[in-house]
Amino acid sequence: MAERTAELSSAAADQTAGRTTPKIRVAGISKHFAAGQKTLPALADVNLHVNAGEFVTLVGPSGCGKSTLFNIIVGLLAPDEGGALFIDGEFVPADHLLGRVAFMPQRDMLLPWRTVLDNAILAAEIDGVPRRTARQRAQAALDRFGLAGFGQHYPQQLSGGMRQRVALMRTFMFERDIMLLDEPFGALDALTRALMQRWLLQVWSEQRRTVLFITHDIDEAIFLGDRVLVMSARPGRIKADVGVPIARPRAPSVVTEPVFVDLKRRLLAAVEDESLKAFASMAETPDAGRGGAP
Ligand code: ADP
Ligand code: MG
Repeated sequence: MAERTAELSSAAADQTAGRTTPKIRVAGISKHFAAGQKTLPALADVNLHVNAGEFVTLVGPSGCGKSTLFNIIVGLLAPDEGGALFIDGEFVPADHLLGRVAFMPQRDMLLPWRTVLDNAILAAEIDGVPRRTARQRAQAALDRFGLAGFGQHYPQQLSGGMRQRVALMRTFMFERDIMLLDEPFGALDALTRALMQRWLLQVWSEQRRTVLFITHDIDEAIFLGDRVLVMSARPGRIKADVGVPIARPRAPSVVTEPVFVDLKRRLLAAVEDESLKAFASMAETPDAGRGGAP
C-alpha cells in the first residue's frame, strides 16, 4: 500500500515538475499462475510506460508473458497484489480496467456465423453503440481497411490478411485512445505482413492513438515503433527500453539503413540471449506445469 501511495504521489509529482504524464503506466506488475501444488511465475515486477500518441513495440521470447501482460492491462486477468496500473496518471484498480482500452487478442476471434460487417461492429455493439449506427460506421470504414465489397462475406471466405484486417477494424471501431495489439500480423506471409505494417502506420498517423504492439519479429518492432521494449525470459520483466531514432514517415527501404541495421543487431542480441535462457529452462524443467525437477 505504501508503494501504491508512493506511485500516486509520483504521478502528481510528474505534473508539478512539468513532465508529461504517460498515457499508460504499468508499475511493479507481477503474476503467478497456479501449477498443481506450486505456482509458476509468469511476470516479475514489470514496469513500463507509453506516452500519449506513442507507438511502442514489445518483443520477447515465446512464453515470456507478453500475452499475460496484455490480458492484465485490458482487465481480463488480475495481477498479483502489489502492482498498479495508471491511465493518464490515475490509478485504475484491476477490476475497473475492462473497457478502458481497445484490444486485439493474439487469435483473431472472428465469429464464423457473423458477416465481416457484423464481426467488425462486435466490440462497438457490446460497448452500447446501436447496431444500425455501428453498421453504418463500419460500412463507411470498409474501404479504409481494404475490405470494400466484402461486408457481407463470412470469415471463412477470406484470406488470412483480410481476416486480420477485420479483427483490426473491430479493434479500431472500439473507440478508445489506447490500443493493445497482440501479434496482429503473426500469421501472415512476409509480403502481406509488410503491406499491413505500412497500412497500419498510415492509419495510426491519421488517428494518433496510443499503441502498445506485441511482436516476435525484430524488424517489425523497429519499423513500427517509436520505442522497442525487450522482455526477459519467463518470468517476464522489461529488460531494455530502446528508442528508435528514425523519422516518420518511414519508407520500406529504412530497413537497409545503417541506423536500422545497428539497432537490429543490438535488439537481436538481447532477444536471443533471453530466448536461449527460455530454451535452457525448458530443458531443465520438461514439465513446468507440475513444478519440474526437484
Ligand atoms: P507469450 O505471450 O510471451 O508467448 P504468455 O503470456 O502466453 O507468453 O505465457 C507466459 C507463461 O504463462 C507461459 O509459461 C504460459 O504457459 C503461462 N500461462 C499463460 N496463461 C496461463 C494460464 N491461464 N494458466 C497457467 N499458465 C498460464
Ligand atoms: Mg502471446
